[in-house]
Amino acid sequence: MNVRTHIEAVYEEVRRRNPGEAEFHQAAAEVLDSLAPALDRHPDYAENGILDRLCEPERQLIFRVPWVDDQGAVRVNRGFRVEFSSALGPYKGGLRFHPSVNLGIVKFLGFEQIFKNALTGMAIGGGKGGADFDPKGRSDGEIMRFCQSFMTELYRHLGEHTDVPAGDIGVGGREIGYLFGQYKRITNRYESGVLTGKPVAWGGSHARTEATGYGAVYFAQEMLATRGDGFDSRRVVVSGSGNVAVYAVEKVHALGGRVVACSDSSGYLVDQDGIDLELLKDVKEVRRARISAYAEAKPTARFTARGTVYDVPCDIALPCATQNELGREDAVALVKNGVRAVAEGANMPCTPEAVAVFREAGVLFGPGKAANAGGVATSALEMQQNAARDTWSFEQTESRLATVMRDVHTQCRATAEAYGDNPDDYVLGANVAGFLRVAEAMTAQGVI
Ligand code: GLU
Repeated sequence: MNVRTHIEAVYEEVRRRNPGEAEFHQAAAEVLDSLAPALDRHPDYAENGILDRLCEPERQLIFRVPWVDDQGAVRVNRGFRVEFSSALGPYKGGLRFHPSVNLGIVKFLGFEQIFKNALTGMAIGGGKGGADFDPKGRSDGEIMRFCQSFMTELYRHLGEHTDVPAGDIGVGGREIGYLFGQYKRITNRYESGVLTGKPVAWGGSHARTEATGYGAVYFAQEMLATRGDGFDSRRVVVSGSGNVAVYAVEKVHALGGRVVACSDSSGYLVDQDGIDLELLKDVKEVRRARISAYAEAKPTARFTARGTVYDVPCDIALPCATQNELGREDAVALVKNGVRAVAEGANMPCTPEAVAVFREAGVLFGPGKAANAGGVATSALEMQQNAARDTWSFEQTESRLATVMRDVHTQCRATAEAYGDNPDDYVLGANVAGFLRVAEAMTAQGVI
């Protein structure tokens, strides 16, 4: 079988079977584009239909989520869970609550998750879920009722050995608490390992909140080290100001770098003194306010509603907001300003055109499925602690996270070298390394 023709046929089938799901097509193309050298070396994978099966989720759930708002009006949202692959362990991946959520978005995220989770080396399959619910401006009571209604359908599909959701955009410790409470109430089981990202006080893991942001910085640090470089005295731009961005800022500062800009959906903020993390946390986490409130509180800062955060000159960029936020023009601006490394803290924040610009310019580029794997890896550490009814210290957990990120980095480079001709090709390395682990398990488990 001609490998390239086979890959093309699989991609065509993805497009035919999932019409209009642009983000899923994009994520599938990104992975499939890397896999020719792997299939060349393992002809049995094509014969066993590994790609055909990997691109079709094992199970897709879509359900109604009715709830009552504070005015007494009935609201209806759409809930999703795409259980993509259980080759390596229970389905694992977050829940996203955002008005943009639809089946195509959930599938792209679930597909990415398969390879990301495989790269961590841990026993976790891939899945993703969420709802087109907008938590912005909603009261605590509304959030609770929404989460309870969401779980009233989803609980029957979950279990610590079946499917283990966590947070993503719009879902943090508060939402996980309400979801867990409803799961426990319906099932009459205190099943700690059914959800991760729980608060530390009742079964969560230390360092889980920080893990995605910290991990992305560790990954960037490893990439920079291959060129004798690091974060010390470097100017850094972090897009977003949610959980991933906040802890990326914290770790960059701990390593001696200076984050000069961050953003939210309303605009971006420049503070050449370095972002004041306490103030940022107060604005985004406590007050749940717009980022402009930061500039109102700090005279050295400037808020801009137009343009993009990538116009701010920097040495290192960490896109930590959302998919396709960094396009070709942003990439060109970053390269022009001398960016050395880009590591994706969010899932697929760079468009394929932007990635091509970085590649051409020789900029170190860490794709999300490698660079942001620290979040889900720490979720797997949370599952380990839950299974053992144990709690590790912050230091112990963070040091395990650092080791995982180092291993992911090493694996990407080694695989890029073995299957291509450039160890800096982290896209090839991450896709092939993740794929090989899943494909081997699928082959051993038979046609299922
Ligand atoms: N939503 C995160 C991700 O994109 C974390 C998933 C998890 O911890 O299960 O990887």
